Amino acid sequence: MPDVKTASHAVGIAEDRVDLKTMDRAALKDFVAEHGVPRYRGDQLFHWIYGKGVSDFDRMSSLPKRMRRGLQRDATVANIEVVEQQQAADQTVKALFELPSGREAETVLIPAIDERGEARRLTVCVSSQVGCAMGCEFCATGLMGFRENLTPGAIFDQVWHMNEVAEERFGRPVTNVVFMGMGEPLLNYDAVLDSIDILTDEDSLNLSAQKITVSTVGLARRI
Ligand code: SF4
Repeated sequence: MPDVKTASHAVGIAEDRVDLKTMDRAALKDFVAEHGVPRYRGDQLFHWIYGKGVSDFDRMSSLPKRMRRGLQRDATVANIEVVEQQQAADQTVKALFELPSGREAETVLIPAIDERGEARRLTVCVSSQVGCAMGCEFCATGLMGFRENLTPGAIFDQVWHMNEVAEERFGRPVTNVVFMGMGEPLLNYDAVLDSIDILTDEDSLNLSAQKITVSTVGLARRI
């Protein structure tokens, strides 16, 4: 097993640690292969990061120690952190997350409660950008202007967190995802598509693609 650190010098990632949360399964496999590591190790990385929610390489026990040491030196798994969370009277849960950049993004969990008081549907409304370049007059996010695109992992983290909230408060996992939070998702197209690949992966949250809605203000050429 080649040492990831040694191999990484060839692609110059020694100074700037690469964030594995910018990658979906295919990109993780390409990443390890570029460093001379068998592609199945990328599947194992995917399982730890997006299936188990683990970001500490030391805990990734199925990876060889030498590879873990290389990853510790050259890579990171940048998570987003909840800084504020509130539940409204209608049981909607709003969370404010701090991104690795220090900027903040909002996420909402919207339960559809049936006549027996049970959550029939649990929808997460995710942000895909901080701020937005579209500048729609009615929208507070638009007034901020564009600040930052979220990574696939930062989009995934919003759903992962709300999935835990859903299990804890409503006794069942998230059923739907809508890209209707901060940002115009089609202006962060690649990351949004990668996040959908992750969210629908059976080794991750295994959501149905039919239950994921991307809402746009009308960038039709991207659809
Ligand atoms: S596209 Fe969405 S987030 Fe952006 S300004 Fe318009 S309504 Fe707001």
